[in-house]
Amino acid sequence: MPDLVRRDILKIKPYIAGKPIEETQRQLGLKEVFKLASNENPLGVSRKALTAIKKNLNKLNRYPDSQGYYLKKRLAAYAGVSFGNIVLGNGSDELIDVVIKTFVEGDENIVTADTTFLEYAIIARVNGRKVFTAPLKNFKYDLEAIRKKINLETKLVFIANPNNPTGTYVNRKELDGFVAGLPKNVILVLDEAYDTFIDVKDFPDSLKYINKNVIILKTFSKAFGMAGLRIGYAIAKTCFTAYMEVVRQPFNVNSLAQVGALAALGDKEFLRKTKKAVSEGKEYLYHALNRLGIKYVPSAANFILIDVEKSGVSVFNDLLSRGVIVREMQQYGLNNFIRVTIGTPLENRKFIEALEKVL
Ligand code: PMP
Repeated sequence: MPDLVRRDILKIKPYIAGKPIEETQRQLGLKEVFKLASNENPLGVSRKALTAIKKNLNKLNRYPDSQGYYLKKRLAAYAGVSFGNIVLGNGSDELIDVVIKTFVEGDENIVTADTTFLEYAIIARVNGRKVFTAPLKNFKYDLEAIRKKINLETKLVFIANPNNPTGTYVNRKELDGFVAGLPKNVILVLDEAYDTFIDVKDFPDSLKYINKNVIILKTFSKAFGMAGLRIGYAIAKTCFTAYMEVVRQPFNVNSLAQVGALAALGDKEFLRKTKKAVSEGKEYLYHALNRLGIKYVPSAANFILIDVEKSGVSVFNDLLSRGVIVREMQQYGLNNFIRVTIGTPLENRKFIEALEKVL
């Protein structure tokens, strides 16, 4: 009965995830469906990760290692930080929740951009916390506008860098200035889900901020190709992580995710191939969109925001009927846009062929 549900929850619009391939096949009776909707890895899963996962299947009767000892040790070495600086999560989604639960009091708020990863606002509201948002400027986080939204009750600021769904990024100089000017009781959460795809020289080296009030979020869902296993991690100073460890659930990261992530970290070749596929796919898509005279936002990530100059929902539906799943952007207030994930050469070609017919 809705009247038993918390009033806060009744007001929240749920997160709408990318459409699954199987569902689209079933609903539309299509044999061939290409999913370019959730910024996943087009190359699949690292072989090394798969081997490690298979080897551990017969241990599923046991609870996972609550500490995630081996993975945290490896991640600490990988990032050049200490074991205690890392907190593992069931995807970085869970860590957004953990951070809000750990730091934001009932009368405090969070600040973020109005066109960014929707989970910051949804999870804050589920936790009964207020959210204030600042508009983007030229599709990019406007740090000055964000600063103006910070008030005495602000505890957390979320910045996705690069940003989803725009693919734009905040550069080193801009972020240095923002971090230096942050009020001392405000924590910055830097969500770097897409940082592995960065190929620009002025991207911030966020690790240099970890002695400050900064929490970095990373994920294995994108470049590491493990979205289905649900694993991400946070890096922060130990006086933060110690309490995030209290808040997270004891067995939040399953055992297959732990061994898979550990092996994936050692698969440099898979990561190299992924980056190459994304950068070549991006060039192909830019070139094709330019040829068709379609506007887009240049992206530092593995997806592109495209201005279709008419209803993005109708373009999404037309592409869907041709077996290509992209993301419509109505939830983000970008009504004339779609977002496409960079796929394999075949997927990219299918997308462009379908888009050409639809527009
Ligand atoms: N942050 C951003 C900016 C994202 O785009 C996503 C995934 N769409 C996430 C976090 C969540 O990733 P995970 O799969 O690790 O929960």
